[in-house]
Amino acid sequence: MNPAPPVAAGLFETDPPRLCGSRCPVCGRAAFPRHDVCPSCGAAGCEPVRLGPRGRLWAWTTVTSRPPGYGGPVPYGFGVVELDDGLRVVTRLALPLDDARFGRPMHLRIVEVRGEDGEAFTTWEFAPEPGS
Ligand SMILES: [Zn+2]
Repeated sequence: MNPAPPVAAGLFETDPPRLCGSRCPVCGRAAFPRHDVCPSCGAAGCEPVRLGPRGRLWAWTTVTSRPPGYGGPVPYGFGVVELDDGLRVVTRLALPLDDARFGRPMHLRIVEVRGEDGEAFTTWEFAPEPGS
């Protein structure tokens, strides 16, 4: 069986799970998704980098109604994880939000979700580190 296609091309790698971002040759900041021109300082020539897989929970909320194109279960967690190098990424969250706390260690994983017609896609999310 073939794996489901990614929700969008060029956002992540699956084995091992990593986000596909870029790093600026002038200011050194990372960005996600990947940019050719740095969103922080405007310099050209950003290089592709793999980001993750670890970070810390920075903000969170609960999505209670399905966004357009999504056919999976609700509610689900959604928020921001700060990666180890300081970049904050918007992400699905795999945790009971009663267990959410600022700074909780999280790790990246690739998961399958359903579109509104039942078709399968893969996307990224962050889950709590075991034992955290
Ligand atoms: Zn820059």
